[in-house]
Amino acid sequence: MKRIAQLSYHTSPVAALGGRVSGGMNVYVLELSRELARQGHHVDIFTRREGDGPAVEILEPGLRLVQIEAGPVEPVEKEDLPAHLGDFVRNLLRFVAGEPRPYDVVHSHYWQSARAGIHVARALGAPHVTMFHTLGEVKNRARITEEEPRRRILHERNAARRADAIITASDHERAVLRRYYGADESRMDTIPCGIDLELFYPRDRDAARVRLGINPGAPVLLWVGRLEKLKGVDILIQALAEVETPGTQLIIVGGDAQATGLREELSAQAEDAGVRDRVRFEGALPHDALPDYYAAADVCVVPSYYESFGLVAVESMACGTPVVASRVGGLVSTVIDGVNGYLIPWRCPGPFAEKLDVLLNNPHLRHNFSRAGRRNVERFRWRNIAMALSSVYERVETRKSRDANEAAFDALSNEALESALLAE
Ligand code: UDP
Repeated sequence: MKRIAQLSYHTSPVAALGGRVSGGMNVYVLELSRELARQGHHVDIFTRREGDGPAVEILEPGLRLVQIEAGPVEPVEKEDLPAHLGDFVRNLLRFVAGEPRPYDVVHSHYWQSARAGIHVARALGAPHVTMFHTLGEVKNRARITEEEPRRRILHERNAARRADAIITASDHERAVLRRYYGADESRMDTIPCGIDLELFYPRDRDAARVRLGINPGAPVLLWVGRLEKLKGVDILIQALAEVETPGTQLIIVGGDAQATGLREELSAQAEDAGVRDRVRFEGALPHDALPDYYAAADVCVVPSYYESFGLVAVESMACGTPVVASRVGGLVSTVIDGVNGYLIPWRCPGPFAEKLDVLLNNPHLRHNFSRAGRRNVERFRWRNIAMALSSVYERVETRKSRDANEAAFDALSNEALESALLAE
């Protein structure tokens, strides 16, 4: 059983979800760590200290959250975080020095943690596994958000070259890493993200609608996520205006105080399109409030310009709700077009509206998609995902100790050679 350090520098895995920066990656780090701990490993998640919580918190047996001092304890804009990375690495190593046992593997998440991971792993003589979750090159190519800084891409390239293993959540991410970052194929492992199948399963639609105050007869579309431009909610609002099914409602889940600007923009867009009275903004909600929403909806829409994996689509399918999603990134590996949902190749409202009308008007088709969606999600069970990750940890550890042995052997033979030469 291993001691594993998970690095999540820029956002805490226990932060409230649905904000501008807290979403899929937070769920991933926490749920993966929980499952690894349940499988008998010891896992510490290291994050930058925010607020006045304890420095070390036991989340459950075998799993601790360690907050490392680095910069102000208030939230820091993502763009300003690299300035405190040095303190994070130094203080993390100081913490590790006081621990009874070293770590067997360092697993970093997102490019900023990957930078820290390179130094932490080297200092500890441990292998470094990294996972980018999103990549600067891909965001820039999706051409929707502000330009990702060149510096980010350079750091991603460096981490991709130096990590002992890179985990990609989809074949698309793997291809991007190979093509744009020169990542070595033999060091990449494609392992999908997991979801909690004990939380996300089909529930009674009418009961869910009563709990949420939704008209039992209304056609309902759902969107869930971090409210940011890359998610394409603007496309969905325009699509709602083009949907012909009368009385169609749209529920938007996600968006904290940091997303107020975008929420206001979207609200104004809905007003202009004449659909404001049919759009309900719920704000960010805790993860365990979501199954009711998926159950109450007829269709979940994922109109993103890019998704490296797209947990929301899989959560929806697990709840038996069909998905209409952009044909991008990881969604291509989870949504099977015409079987459990539809994939839309163009990032424009018309084709979304067309498929939404097809599904909203065809309960039989929704039922078939729902059953096919459920059948497709078993492979995302966390137990399987954590076991796949464990075997990557095992492999890099073995390789690292073999490399270390070879280095020791070389040093030894040099010494032996030297003394032999001296003796001559
Ligand atoms: N989420 C949540 N509450 C919200 C909004 C989102 O719990 O108000 C969760 C959602 O259930 C999903 C994650 O945040 O697990 C978003 O992950 P996804 O992969 O879809 O997007 P990402 O955040 O990685 O871009």
